[in-house]
Amino acid sequence: MLQTINVFSFESPLGVPVEIVRQTFSAASSRFRQRVSVVAGLHGDELEGVYICGHLSRILQDLKKNKPHAFLGEVHIYPAMNPQALGNHSRLWPYFSIDMNRTMGDRERPGLPFKASQEILSDIQKHSDLAVDIHASNQYLLELPQIRIIDGFQEPLVPLAELCNIDLIWVHPMAEVFKSTLGYNLNSTDIPTLVIETGICHRIHTEYCQQVLTGLLNLLVRTGVLDSQAVDLNPVKTPILVNPTEVGMVQAKTSGLFVPQAQIGIQVNKGDPLGQMLDPKDGKILEEVSFPFDGFLFTLRQHPLCYEGAPLARVALGKTRVL
Ligand SMILES: [Zn+2]
Repeated sequence: MLQTINVFSFESPLGVPVEIVRQTFSAASSRFRQRVSVVAGLHGDELEGVYICGHLSRILQDLKKNKPHAFLGEVHIYPAMNPQALGNHSRLWPYFSIDMNRTMGDRERPGLPFKASQEILSDIQKHSDLAVDIHASNQYLLELPQIRIIDGFQEPLVPLAELCNIDLIWVHPMAEVFKSTLGYNLNSTDIPTLVIETGICHRIHTEYCQQVLTGLLNLLVRTGVLDSQAVDLNPVKTPILVNPTEVGMVQAKTSGLFVPQAQIGIQVNKGDPLGQMLDPKDGKILEEVSFPFDGFLFTLRQHPLCYEGAPLARVALGKTRVL
């Protein structure tokens, strides 16, 4: 059956104990093949992953009850890695104002968030041959379901990402800041880890969540964790693969209120309307914003308030979606 294991616990400042837990679905036989971990909630304002983990857990609990032999491998779900931030609806761990996905690399730093991160990282390392870390976007930009891969890690990760029913695989350049993320630290210790980015924070985009859920079940079957005979799989999308130079960003040329006109997830051509930048004082159109290039629209601004330079959209340049 499902086991819920306490990975790390502490007393909150209000005296209420807080637990960071792992749900473990063990293999039917001790000679199991693969162990896959699914992680969510490192950022407390990102609820899409928490929702996906809940649904995945329910599906796996039903499977465990009705077809226990379907578990050829192990599944571990870490549904809420930053309970304090989730309770506070904030990206950062409150009181400390620390981004938990920037605390994973430094094993020597003192303090509760760093201690919690080290315990989580070490628990995932002990229990995983493959991991999936689910994030939503920030409050400004809506993202189509995608997997982001740091340049250099793509060889093992792209074939796995292709199983996940996402719209896009984005290989992006390495930056110093990634050294303290969960994804980088797992990939660096030879645990292939897929970082999913989907939807927008503070919301649940049920269609995208269902898409990712379908992808996760497909991944679990294709990697030999679940028996293909026991799971009804839906067809998965073939994602667009973009390399670092193949993403075009449209930025605000002026401050104002941005109202999008384009629809995310479509092919766009140079000159097509993207949205209008309005003057908040009188509603006057400051700029009719159009796409400066052709491609596939996968990021679209939702928060209207813009200053000059604010990101409005991202396009996979020259790419065409194969359905
Ligand atoms: Zn995040």
